[in-house]
Amino acid sequence: MRAWVASGTGDLRLVERADPAPAAGELLVRVDVCAVCRTDLHLVAGELVPRHVGVAPGHQVVGRVAVVGGEVAGWTVGDRVGVAWLRSTCGACRWCRTGAENLCPRSTYTGWDADGGFAEFVTVPAAFAYRLPEGPADEQLAPLLCAGIIGYRALRRARLPSRGRLGIYGFGSSAHLTMQVAVAQAVQVHVLTRGADARRLALELGAASAGRAYDQPPVPLDSAILFAPVGDLVPVALAALDQGGTLAVAGIHVSDVPRLNYQQHLFRERTLTSVTANTRADGTRLLRLAADLGVVARTTCYPFDGAPDALHDVEAGADAGTAVLRVRE
Ligand SMILES: [Zn+2]
Ligand SMILES: [Zn+2]
Repeated sequence: MRAWVASGTGDLRLVERADPAPAAGELLVRVDVCAVCRTDLHLVAGELVPRHVGVAPGHQVVGRVAVVGGEVAGWTVGDRVGVAWLRSTCGACRWCRTGAENLCPRSTYTGWDADGGFAEFVTVPAAFAYRLPEGPADEQLAPLLCAGIIGYRALRRARLPSRGRLGIYGFGSSAHLTMQVAVAQAVQVHVLTRGADARRLALELGAASAGRAYDQPPVPLDSAILFAPVGDLVPVALAALDQGGTLAVAGIHVSDVPRLNYQQHLFRERTLTSVTANTRADGTRLLRLAADLGVVARTTCYPFDGAPDALHDVEAGADAGTAVLRVRE
């Protein structure tokens, strides 16, 4: 098969390698599309150190089951399947046993510990594969598998009151999906982001306002989510919160957070928290919610050979919405 791999020197390299074989408990998936996530960029750039040399990035895969490994029940060749970021957990630690498997110290990740979907085939433990409906287009489902799921968890972590006022800092793939989930539930959304195209898309999707990244939103916020990987925005977003408000930082890699001022940024019971991966329950809930609420991803599709261009464009913020690789032409 053909696979794009992280060279370890800041770029992607196209290689030919043997098709992977599913171990016991795994499925082999023929990849149709793989959406691009900012985490793929961090991995290729070395900000996230690859867990093995030559790993294929990509953790938002929509494909079909090609081979069912041993000891797998409930899956058939040809089933439509989604492969997401969380690849495995230990199932035995105190976090796994209490509904917080996203914090499992022994968790592994698609496109970091194991090869991901920037390749024609990928393996996935059946217990961590998502069964996908037949209706929606490939490029509609793929962005939900990380951008959608992580954004949904961030929304929960941000403890948004019903019909509250939500600030969204940074408006890429995850933000544009999360915003739709919020707006469909009568949340007032204020978007703050650097790109003019992104601000336009935010307004089109129902934002109450769209300003520049460091602007003050027009109203105090009940909750905010920082999607941009920019630590400098943490005090900015905290200062924009109303008393009792919560800021959830959604990035896996964020530049350093500057010094905070207790009175200005935290006093009056403001909360600063992070978001770490997701549980399978988050994934299942988001997939159902996205269908029920009619979430529509804005996508820009790239051919398989165009993976470096896709990453470059995500880095530059060139496309509003989600970049998607068409692995199978
Ligand atoms: Zn991701
Ligand atoms: Zn565990």
